[in-house]
Amino acid sequence: MNSPKNLPLCPACRKGHLHVTTRNEVFRPRSVEVVVELLASKCDACGVQTTRASQHEENLRRLAARKQHYGSVLMGEEIMTLRKRYGLTQQAAAKIFGKGKIAFSRYENEVTYPDDSTMLLLRMALEKPDSLKWLADKAGVELPMWQERCKDGRPSLRMVEASQKVRTAVSEQIDIPAKMYGMPSSGTGWHALMPMGHTPSEIFERTWDATRVMA
Ligand SMILES: [Zn+2]
Repeated sequence: MNSPKNLPLCPACRKGHLHVTTRNEVFRPRSVEVVVELLASKCDACGVQTTRASQHEENLRRLAARKQHYGSVLMGEEIMTLRKRYGLTQQAAAKIFGKGKIAFSRYENEVTYPDDSTMLLLRMALEKPDSLKWLADKAGVELPMWQERCKDGRPSLRMVEASQKVRTAVSEQIDIPAKMYGMPSSGTGWHALMPMGHTPSEIFERTWDATRVMA
C-alpha cells in the first residue's frame, strides 16, 4: 500500500508526498541497445522531481552494471578514465589514437563508439600502459601523468569517473537547490543536499569498485 502517509514528505513544498518515478537512459554500444531504468521521486502536489540519496546510489549502480552488455566495447567513462589517468586532454588523446579533435568527446559521451581497431588500441592502452606510452611517443604527445602512474601501479579500472552523459543521467532530476529552501546542508538523505565534495563521480567510483568486487 502506497498511501501518501507512508511516503516521504516533499522537501520543496512540504505539503505533497514523493512517489517513485522512473526514466530510461538509452545507450547503444554497437548493435546492442542497453536501457538503464533510473529512479527519481516526484511530488504529488507541486510536481517537483528529485532524486533521493538511496535512489542516486542505486542509479549509479545500475549505470555501472550496464557494462555486462557491452562485450568488448568500452563504456564512455572507462575511456575518459584512461585519458584522465595520464593527464591527457581530449585533443591530445585524439592525436595519440589518430582521431579527429572531437572524437574523444563523442566516445566519452557515447554519442559514437570507437571503431574496432581503435577500440582494440584503447583496450591495449588500458591493460598494457607501455603500449600507450609507445603510441604517445610515436605521435609526439607527452603523457603528463606518466611518471605518477608508473609509481602508483593501481589496478587499471580502479578510478572510473562518471562521464558527462552519466553525470547528466544521475543529476538532471535534482532540481531542489538546498539554499533556496533553507534546508540543512547534510544529514537529510537528499542527494541535492549532499555536502560539497561528495560528487556523483566519487560515488560512481565507489559503486563501480563494489560492482567489480561482486563480479
Ligand atoms: Zn512538493
